[in-house]
Amino acid sequence: MEIIPLVIPFPAEFGRAGKGTNSYLVKGSGKCILIDTGLDGEGNRAYINDALKRASGGRLDAILLTHGHIDHYGLASYLHQKTGAAIMINEKDSCYLDAYEKSIDEWFGRIYEPAVEGGFSKKELDDAKMMMRIVARIMNAPKEYTTFRYLRLDLDGWTVDSIDLPGHTMGSVGYVVGDSVFCGDAALDGGVNVLDLKEEFVTLQKLKIFKKAYAGHGKTPLGPQDIETLEGRFISRLESVLKASRQGATLKEIYEKVYFESTSNPYIPYRLVHPLNQLISYLRYLESEGYVAKSGNRWMSFSEKI
Ligand SMILES: [Zn+2]
Repeated sequence: MEIIPLVIPFPAEFGRAGKGTNSYLVKGSGKCILIDTGLDGEGNRAYINDALKRASGGRLDAILLTHGHIDHYGLASYLHQKTGAAIMINEKDSCYLDAYEKSIDEWFGRIYEPAVEGGFSKKELDDAKMMMRIVARIMNAPKEYTTFRYLRLDLDGWTVDSIDLPGHTMGSVGYVVGDSVFCGDAALDGGVNVLDLKEEFVTLQKLKIFKKAYAGHGKTPLGPQDIETLEGRFISRLESVLKASRQGATLKEIYEKVYFESTSNPYIPYRLVHPLNQLISYLRYLESEGYVAKSGNRWMSFSEKI
């Protein structure tokens, strides 16, 4: 069994030039699978075709998605049409493929009210939402795919098993091959988007079991020590939220202290909305753990340490 890591760049219109999604071709004696695809685009199609040709002569048996974000499934539809490979995703994340725009609306629904109450203008939120919907519209969501609750694939002498890794999205999974796991965005550093932090901390414990965790962006593979470092970053980000709300502060005031850098360019939607969504997740977690309380539109922390 051989693992071939690929980095599929973000096209420039996605606003994060220079970055990309880690995808992985995994091939055995006869079969070849792809874990996550990266975003669609002419250059990316050529790149993945070339990689596939070299790895397996163009054969692709399955496309396994770690979760339903567009930067992980973007090329799936194209590859499915070209190779016939089945696209598989956990049933809890299939909503993203069914209607990405709807999932953006729901995601916004979660942050809209607290954001307006916390001092953000409706206009800047609406602008950010519109830009995200435009990006979603130009992307090609797969229409034919298979959902699973748990997945086991037998591939000529080796197996792939899914493992639930919720937090980043509620349907995030990893794919276990031997002592490695392909974990998508379940292992990202503390500054990025997590829907449920309580779940994410459990997920990080699970990831420490594996010798190698193949991540969805940036450095890969990660070892247990790297996962420990990520956990530490979440804690320090939580503590910076506690510090910012020590004297009582609105969501916007906390946002500006914790993500000062991001506010310099608020009209790139990912620079406004992802940290905002993240901050709301942090505050909900801290509230449920008894570290902060909300009175009116102000958050107040009881300590600066977790
Ligand atoms: Zn993601």
